[in-house]
Amino acid sequence: MPVATLKYPDLRNFIAGELADGDLAQLDVHDPSSGEVIARVPLSRAQEVDTAVKAARAAFPAWSATPIKERVQVFFRYKTLLEKHVYELAALITEENGKVASEAHAEVMKSAELTEFACSLPQIATGEVLEVSRGIECRVERFPIGIVAAITPFNFPSMVPHWSIPNAIALGNCMILKPSELVPLSAMRIAELLAEAGLPAGVFNVVHGGRESVEAICDHPDIAAISFVGSTATARAVYRRATSNLKRCLALGGAKNHLIVMPDAERESTAANVVASMAGSAGQRCMAASVMVAVASTEPVIARLVEVARAIVPGRDIGPVISAQAKARITAYIDEAEEAGATVIVDGRRVVVPGREDGYFLGPTVIDHVTTDMRIAREEVFGPVLAIVRADDIDEAIAIENASPYGNAAAVFTESGGVARQVMERASAGMIGVNVGVPVPREPFSFGGWNESRFGVGDITGRGSLELWTQTKKLTTKWTRTGR
Ligand code: NAD
Repeated sequence: MPVATLKYPDLRNFIAGELADGDLAQLDVHDPSSGEVIARVPLSRAQEVDTAVKAARAAFPAWSATPIKERVQVFFRYKTLLEKHVYELAALITEENGKVASEAHAEVMKSAELTEFACSLPQIATGEVLEVSRGIECRVERFPIGIVAAITPFNFPSMVPHWSIPNAIALGNCMILKPSELVPLSAMRIAELLAEAGLPAGVFNVVHGGRESVEAICDHPDIAAISFVGSTATARAVYRRATSNLKRCLALGGAKNHLIVMPDAERESTAANVVASMAGSAGQRCMAASVMVAVASTEPVIARLVEVARAIVPGRDIGPVISAQAKARITAYIDEAEEAGATVIVDGRRVVVPGREDGYFLGPTVIDHVTTDMRIAREEVFGPVLAIVRADDIDEAIAIENASPYGNAAAVFTESGGVARQVMERASAGMIGVNVGVPVPREPFSFGGWNESRFGVGDITGRGSLELWTQTKKLTTKWTRTGR
């Protein structure tokens, strides 16, 4: 396609406050609602990663020596800029990722909320001090770890980068962001707005690319820590490579979230919550409901959730999935389950959105009588699909949840505190909801799963991020009183 027809000019890396690397191989960026190519993203190599690291290294001495109360002033201004540009930023997310305007708006506002937490870090990242003996003090102070990198997925082009950017930078580090090559536009606007907020050049850099750029980040000797968010296969590879190079790494992976519905669950809110969880962002959320474990007699809830799912209009209420390949993969999961004997009770496979016939749309799909041996019950589907598995009692339901190798989220819908308590204690997942379908902890609490949904120690947001982005120094001092 000739350059003149592209909506955005060819993208460049953002290094030391300037656009860089105009001569690299490129990849097309598609608008998933129409299939159109809207931009081209450069595919960086080790050389470009190294240039970005040099820029970050040059900025680090001054930035890390700036008092934290001064550093967060940038983020107070940046949060205001996010709010000022919320509609423009949301439109960009819609174009590159496909999510509908309300979801994109919520994503920008969540980015602002994450920034707000970073503004409170001077109150949180304080050290400790104690006189341990006469005249002898022990104290702990936090120090940034240096040059850090964040590698992010396609499903939240703004929010997931904001899991790392404000906290890591406010804590004194300099950063390289490697956004998903499928959604590289938001990252450029984030870089511009951070610069407008007064962040010195080189403190935040964007390097675009795919596998080669990620491997170069994992191998670079001057990068001290990496946060990664993406699929489990990549998270595992990144974690192995980064830690074998002796870096600190927190790698969040995929998910297969189970929502347990008890017979006493409140019908209306349960149906609404389960459907919102599975269909929101077209099911492309690591916190999305994927399996509903229906315990004993839950027919009224199932009947109602079928109505709620059928009322969702693709193109108006939910966007497309990210690519033609993703649509084909999700459809194949549904076909295979149907062939294996499951019943498709809401079928989103043949959806057409008028005027956007070439978009990668799928409607919400609900499949009943799925059995635990089916692939759709075990693997991450990452689309607007809910598999209903039947269980006789709460023990069987928890056993089904526990059998998953993932462990991001789990939830229970019930009016019984005792049953809720059991799920909170026994579900093998890092984030648990009780009558909440998307149990994302809000700051200052931290986001992070268990098992194959997270490799490394600690959590990525909130207070947990302090352990990822800082190191402590333990200081012991003795001053003898003189002049007596
Ligand atoms: P992905 O693993 O394909 O890509 C993530 C990042 O890794 C991208 O920046 C990409 O360029 C890079 N990458 C891809 N393949 C690579 C390879 N072979 N070697 C090195 N780098 C590689 O993930 P995605 O499809 O962009 O995102 C969807 C996945 O992310 C889902 O599995 C979802 O559950 C997961 N996710 C998890 C969380 C969480 O908090 N656990 C949050 C959001 C998304």
